[in-house]
Amino acid sequence: MSIIVEKVSKTYGKQFALRDVSFSIEPNEIVGFIGPNGAGKSTMMKIICGYLPPSEGTVKVNGIDVSEAPLKVRETIGYLPENNPLYHEMYVREYLEFVSGMLKIPNRETRITEIIKQTGLEAEKHKKIAALSKGYKQRVGIAQALIHNPSVVILDEPTTGLDPNQILEIRNLISETGKGKTIMLSTHIMQEVEAICSRIIVINKGEIVANDKAGNLKVQTQGSFVTISVEFNAQVDIEKLNKIKGVVKAVNVKGSNYLLQSNVDNDIRPDVFQFAVESNLTVLALQKMEQSLEEVFRELTKK
Ligand code: ADP
Ligand code: MG
Repeated sequence: MSIIVEKVSKTYGKQFALRDVSFSIEPNEIVGFIGPNGAGKSTMMKIICGYLPPSEGTVKVNGIDVSEAPLKVRETIGYLPENNPLYHEMYVREYLEFVSGMLKIPNRETRITEIIKQTGLEAEKHKKIAALSKGYKQRVGIAQALIHNPSVVILDEPTTGLDPNQILEIRNLISETGKGKTIMLSTHIMQEVEAICSRIIVINKGEIVANDKAGNLKVQTQGSFVTISVEFNAQVDIEKLNKIKGVVKAVNVKGSNYLLQSNVDNDIRPDVFQFAVESNLTVLALQKMEQSLEEVFRELTKK
């Protein structure tokens, strides 16, 4: 395992930020850490990176206990903090030289040139960080996190505050530069995790409320009914639709479009087709209505 979090709790004075949190992340996984503001995402990430001690519990990164050897852990971990704190008065290349000096990176100049290329900063490397757009500042933050070629990368809300084009660019950059690495990224945007993560850990009010693949989360939260959307070539008597085997409720949406509800473990689509054939109707469209990840998120974090 790359990251093992075991029964971690954290209080700031009287304020509970994390309560009995446990999860693990395997090598080369890209995991989305998602939850509303104040859920405890940044706190958990700071603890994993050894910047904040847990009140209780243990965290291991690549087998090393973070509380016992925080500096050793930081050698194998790349961290992009929330709000990406950078030295705005420094030039891009100068800043990366400063960071790599602190990390005692071998073959420093070659490595800096390499990471500048990888993160698309070639044209900006002689600019002051203050002069960069938010998307490019974020690239510098990612370059800083990856410069020592860590096997584990923790990115705290890497796309928050960016415009839609920048979001796409940063997502692609994370996917490309993250190959062969373990990545944990936090966000409060659901599409983000659907786009790049293989697994989602949902946190709400300091507690883990879900930990699964996106597809499985949809199944878990959709409840006991599924809805089928069907369009025939002509209008149908709603009573006849209600009589199709397995249909719990039929509704006419508009024209010859209908929604048919059934129990979740019952796929009624073959019976709907059969009904159409027997009634001399043509099925123009037939689709299972998937719950969106937004709905999943709201469902899991509504308490
Ligand atoms: P998230 O990153 O999911 O928005 P945080 O980890 O920043 O959540 O915060 C979790 C909870 O801990 C919030 O209620 C927040 O107000 C509180 N908190 C975070 N940092 C501190 C701090 N330094 N002192 C007191 N409370 C804090
Ligand atoms: Mg945060």
